[in-house]
Amino acid sequence: MNLDRRDFIKVLSTGVLAAAGAEKALAAEVDRYKRSPEAVGILYDATICVGCKACEIGCKQANNLPVEHSGLDEYHGVQNIWDSAKDTSPNSYIKIKVHKDSSTAKKDQFENGYSFMRTACMHCIDPDCVSVCPTSALIKDPVTGIVSWDIDACCGCRYCQMACPYLIPKFEYDKAFPKIEKCFMCSHRVKDGGIPGCAEFCPTGATLFGKFADILEEAKKRLTLAEGAEYSYPQHTLDSGKQTPKKAAKYIQYVYGEKDGGGTQYIILSAVPFEKLGLPKLPDHSSASKSEGLQHTIYKGMIAPAVVLAGLAVAAYRSTNQEEKEG
Ligand code: SF4
Ligand code: SF4
Ligand code: SF4
Repeated sequence: MNLDRRDFIKVLSTGVLAAAGAEKALAAEVDRYKRSPEAVGILYDATICVGCKACEIGCKQANNLPVEHSGLDEYHGVQNIWDSAKDTSPNSYIKIKVHKDSSTAKKDQFENGYSFMRTACMHCIDPDCVSVCPTSALIKDPVTGIVSWDIDACCGCRYCQMACPYLIPKFEYDKAFPKIEKCFMCSHRVKDGGIPGCAEFCPTGATLFGKFADILEEAKKRLTLAEGAEYSYPQHTLDSGKQTPKKAAKYIQYVYGEKDGGGTQYIILSAVPFEKLGLPKLPDHSSASKSEGLQHTIYKGMIAPAVVLAGLAVAAYRSTNQEEKEG
């Protein structure tokens, strides 16, 4: 079968036009997921974090995770004394990191300073990990918004690892039947009215748990504080009654996670630019909304594939007819 070049280009253009229509339609799909009014979240304020890592221990205790040794935990020649995971892992859902510059003389300043940063699942509004998971092992709770996983459904394909813009899901490379692990915002505690282990153990309030709307309001309130203003930072939850009095740092006027990548339920405040803390610059919509929007629109009712197929059939018919006439 000889397809006429012009016919082939026509058919292809039809498909491209259908795809262009899909591009327009997907603009409406952006921000397709909003946070539910009952959504929960975590506010991490790097300016009041003291790097004590109590949150890491709270997480291990709340989730029954084993101690992890990395060779960094040596003291006077004795090894494996304390938990010392280098990064998040199947056994460590949260990691406090320190970002330093030159002399590291002052906390919460980038040049010649340092800042702590908490790494854990961001509980994205429209999570790429959920979008790519072929077995629906990763699930976003429609009420709390917590992204958890069905460990029995995980087939270990690691698509979620590749899709996550924050490099969060971790794989059990050392297991015979490996699975993916990550923070699931202590959903087992939250469903019974409890709070995550990290927020419970944090002594300063740097990790604060609550309804998402409330913690976002709290974050925005902190951004109005003048540098050096006295503020009582709530500990654990907004209404715990416990507070840490402290002078406010010079905040970057931005709540990371409010919109980034379509928004997250773990939001961050800092006095050091977020990109210096290792947080990616993301557009205001998720990759999942774009890729799924495009696919769903192109394949909606199978119209675009049907148009392309019909066009190819007509072109092939014409081509065969032409050959017969010439023959
Ligand atoms: S941070 Fe990564 S693992 Fe967590 S919900 Fe978002 S995409 Fe999924
Ligand atoms: S929310 Fe729970 S699982 Fe997630 S880091 Fe905190 S303690 Fe760990
Ligand atoms: S427990 Fe609180 S203060 Fe200590 S490292 Fe964790 S977030 Fe920072």
